[in-house]
Amino acid sequence: MAMDPVCYVDVDEETARFSSTYRGTDYYFCSDFCRKKFEENPEKYARLATKIDIGTDISC
Ligand SMILES: [Zn+2]
Repeated sequence: MAMDPVCYVDVDEETARFSSTYRGTDYYFCSDFCRKKFEENPEKYARLATKIDIGTDISC
């Protein structure tokens, strides 16, 4: 299961209708609205998604 990096909803890669590739990584979205938001500022959302992915391993 992938996560929509804009609204944090779970998105199934198999059935996702909206996706975008940024720096070699595929991102999936619940809607065209979220995809457009991502493409307006991919750096911001890609960074947030990565943080959440590895978040449980980090303590500071
Ligand atoms: Zn969304």
